[in-house]
Amino acid sequence: MVSAFETARTINTKYNCFLEVFEDGRYSPLPGKLNGMTVAIKDVLALKDARLTCGSKFLENFTSLYSATCVERLRLAGAVFIGKTNMDEFAMGSSNENSAYGAVLNPYDVTRVPGGSSGGSAVAAATGAARLALGTDTGGSIRQPAAFTGTVGLKPTYGRISRYGLTAFASSFDTVGTFSRTLEDAAIALEVMAGSDPHDATTATAAVEEYSLGLKKDIATLRIGIPKEYFGEGIEPDIREAVEAARKKFENAGCTIVPVSLPHSKYGIAVYYILTTAEASSNLARFDGIRYGKRSKDSETLLETYVRSRSEGFGPEVKRRIMLGTYVLSSGYYDAYYKRAQKVRRLIKEDFTKAFAECDALLTPTTPTTAFKLGDKVTDPLAMYLNDIFTVNANIAGVPAISIPIGLDRNGLPIGAQLITNDFEETNLFALAKEVITELRIEN
Ligand code: GLN
Repeated sequence: MVSAFETARTINTKYNCFLEVFEDGRYSPLPGKLNGMTVAIKDVLALKDARLTCGSKFLENFTSLYSATCVERLRLAGAVFIGKTNMDEFAMGSSNENSAYGAVLNPYDVTRVPGGSSGGSAVAAATGAARLALGTDTGGSIRQPAAFTGTVGLKPTYGRISRYGLTAFASSFDTVGTFSRTLEDAAIALEVMAGSDPHDATTATAAVEEYSLGLKKDIATLRIGIPKEYFGEGIEPDIREAVEAARKKFENAGCTIVPVSLPHSKYGIAVYYILTTAEASSNLARFDGIRYGKRSKDSETLLETYVRSRSEGFGPEVKRRIMLGTYVLSSGYYDAYYKRAQKVRRLIKEDFTKAFAECDALLTPTTPTTAFKLGDKVTDPLAMYLNDIFTVNANIAGVPAISIPIGLDRNGLPIGAQLITNDFEETNLFALAKEVITELRIEN
């Protein structure tokens, strides 16, 4: 019989979705609830004694001394770790083309991107190389690649899963979550990983629910909000139609459909790219060429070591974000950009609070387009950033959201719908997703 590891290796030769596939037996499973479920880990999450590159040359030879809390909880519950997955460098990107280790190809069409930044994890789950793949979502990095690869992508509430052992990008946005083919696997994994952690002070103490029970919950009493700002121009017609069909399914299931408005959503992209770059510029200051990772050779002074190590170790997108973030935090610009963006963040959060007084969940497209061509947006960062238009606001507000496959477009590419609920209402996400999901399976 072909082992799961061999299968993953074969799949990897086609799509470059793994940075490392482990040797069989390196991480043997314990008995437990997950019962040997195969799990791939985005290479921004620590696994003890495994390489942790964050998709960057800076950490090419870095090995982790400990495991992330989420990874450790999966291990203790009986997961089998298959390998570490490819990703955009430090989770910055929407196409996986910012990886220092080459792009990941979309299994539905290898001339297209799988989305990013968790593109490798998305493809690992889509192809069945792993039943579950861990991802991280700061502005859409689970939901957007899930939409592009026909997988279930769950971003739980901020603070629901510990960030301990996750290499920080933008700490007040970063969220650990999952890719899977089924809602059942996403629900059981959340049950295992969620909950407070003394190593992460931002973890929530709210009770961890039996999320899989959500899959049996009656949804007829739930109200679905349709936010008008998420159905404007620029959405591909096939996506619009598929989301409309999902809306009808909810109506047929007895849900009340409520038109709602999130008026500050239009500032989401601007707010996101000001606040996350500010946080990133501070978080990535630790990569200085001294403490860990790359140290540039032949530097004579301390300053030279910093400058050369960072110039050689980081790729162009990471440098762009550090410079943007440093700029918006600099004296003279702080009030105009950083402080103002913080105020608008508050307004966006209030929009969600108001909307959830009128409905239980929001239905939107996950992305305005299906998977785009490799190379299409690499020279136009703004066009790349705009692909996150429907996903960033959930991170700005901290609310949970899920992307689920709801069919294929005219080119045979997966379409994703997004559901968003109020904080800690993941059970409703699962209940509602069950009604409209079209489980997809790509053959290898
Ligand atoms: N695509 C977004 C970005 O480039 C989101 C990244 C993420 O969620 N990690 O920042």
